[in-house]
Amino acid sequence: MPTSSYQNFELQPLAGHWRAGQSERKLQVVNPFNQENLLELNLATKEDLDESFIAAREAQKSWALMAPAARAAIMLKAVAIFDQRHDEIVEWIIAESGSTRIKAQIEWGAARAITLEAASFPSRVHGFILPNDIPGKESRVYRKPLGVVGVISPWNFPLHLTQRSVAPALALGNAVVIKPASDTPVTGGLLIARIFEEAGLPAGVLSVVVGSGAEIGDTFVEHPVPSFISFTGSSEVGRNIGRLACGGKYLKHVALELGGNSPFVVLADANVELAVNAAVVGKFLHQGQICMAINRIIVEQPLVEEFTRRYTERVKALPYGDPSKADTVVGPVINAKQLQGLLQKIETAKAEGAKVLVGGDPQGNVLPPHVFGNVTAGMEIAREEIFGPLVGIQAARDEQHALQLANQSEYGLSSAVFSGSLERGVRFAQGIHAGMTHVNDMPVNDAPNAAFGGEKSSGLGRFNGEWAIAEFTTDHWITVQHEPRRYPF
Ligand code: NAD
Repeated sequence: MPTSSYQNFELQPLAGHWRAGQSERKLQVVNPFNQENLLELNLATKEDLDESFIAAREAQKSWALMAPAARAAIMLKAVAIFDQRHDEIVEWIIAESGSTRIKAQIEWGAARAITLEAASFPSRVHGFILPNDIPGKESRVYRKPLGVVGVISPWNFPLHLTQRSVAPALALGNAVVIKPASDTPVTGGLLIARIFEEAGLPAGVLSVVVGSGAEIGDTFVEHPVPSFISFTGSSEVGRNIGRLACGGKYLKHVALELGGNSPFVVLADANVELAVNAAVVGKFLHQGQICMAINRIIVEQPLVEEFTRRYTERVKALPYGDPSKADTVVGPVINAKQLQGLLQKIETAKAEGAKVLVGGDPQGNVLPPHVFGNVTAGMEIAREEIFGPLVGIQAARDEQHALQLANQSEYGLSSAVFSGSLERGVRFAQGIHAGMTHVNDMPVNDAPNAAFGGEKSSGLGRFNGEWAIAEFTTDHWITVQHEPRRYPF
């Protein structure tokens, strides 16, 4: 057991030393439920960022040369620390991001799982020896770390969404600089840095730069040192990052894990009870603030009435309020600005003719779950990513119409379909233009060894398992001409 909980989160690990950011500007980190002040820290400046990238470039050289088993051992030690500090980590997730206890436990588990998966990467990464038509030529492809990786992460699953880039990147011999979201600097970066420090990661290999995205974001992406920018966040910011990383002075590798608008389709032969159960969790886990959360429920006509009745009954009974209580299902949204945006979406839905089936007024940042009926594909709550505890139910005339509605979105992250026939479900799934589809389950699924990512405006690239090994390394083709080559002239 650890002797004491981690302290001094007002400091940041910058270029190998824990120190305060050099900006005069301070960041207050508050609990989204009770507004308790958790932390106040000085923001990092562009100079802090520059020093961190330069230190990372130096530290990466010896880190990449360490034995694979030594890098794996540090990952395994980090997993052990996740276990030893389980309660401390879960309490931070609840306090900083307004997560319910259920969600905090899931997030702790996901972050631990990707760290364990990453422990296998140092021994799994491999090159190739390829056949070659030129006499005497040996053709080899080496896989190498990219160098320095910049990780920008959001506030909704901060620990996991940061760690799913950081752990693979480090395990594969890269150095990392993290820019966490301003709402969640601890769980999105500082806590991870403390865990890796305790696990024995050499100083300078990992820095955390807490600064506002609007202020240091462009510099972070355009800095000459990082050769890979791994961004998770909104499609709007992600597009800009893609432009800066690939359309300017430098051409960098990018992974863009962006917004979603997951359809949840219930076909006429589905088991309604199972579909309702999945749709309750798939929508309201973490107050709907999940990129894969159900954004549209699409039900084939014969089941619309029964599904709607049973779903609204279940949703009305969901306990909401204090996220630290064990049975709370819907806690606060992250901040007042996000709440205002959701209230605006509710007003727009009503004005566009959607019918409120479940509703209620906010209490602080806690917005009670909302369900709307009579929703059509053109309404804002169907078109746009909601990222909150609201959902609309659309009716589909038949299976073909359901598929057309499911694909009527600029996004293509996750999706789900319920059917009494699994093969029909799989056929339907294959017709959905998305990176991920789950048959007879909710769209919120993440496994450390399975390809995670989106199509269309939901982004570029895939995380987890062998896909992460490919993302966080690059190929170097090297040939050896063993005997004199005959040239044509
Ligand atoms: P956001 O895009 O506002 O912010 C994400 C991160 O980018 C934060 O760290 C923020 O500080 C930073 N940032 C903001 N402006 C920047 C700039 N100009 N340059 C560089 N960095 C900048 O997103 P958010 O509100 O934190 O998160 C919610 C969004 O993230 C939703 O759209 C959600 O769907 C998406 N998301 C996607 C995934 C996925 O895996 N596809 C996972 C979680 C969340």
